[in-house]
Amino acid sequence: MDRVIGCGEAVRHLWEFLDQGLDDDDQQAVEEHLAFCMRCCGELEFARQLRRRLRATGVGGLPGDVAERLGRFIDDLGSGESGGGVA
Ligand SMILES: [Zn+2]
Repeated sequence: MDRVIGCGEAVRHLWEFLDQGLDDDDQQAVEEHLAFCMRCCGELEFARQLRRRLRATGVGGLPGDVAERLGRFIDDLGSGESGGGVA
């Protein structure tokens, strides 16, 4: 089943993706998006490093500034995507 998702959706799922909290369909959809999207690949690497750091320090959640950064990124993608033809 081919399902192409946009950057906004991929980034929204990024954290769960790292947590492996997605079901198989979503997990695969994110993987496929990351395979061709350099922009989200950069964000994935950022999230992955962050995740590792949080785990190492034993902090559970996202620091406020990081959540804000991700939120801005998603907003940015959302505005760029309207009329782009990506479902
Ligand atoms: Zn993307």
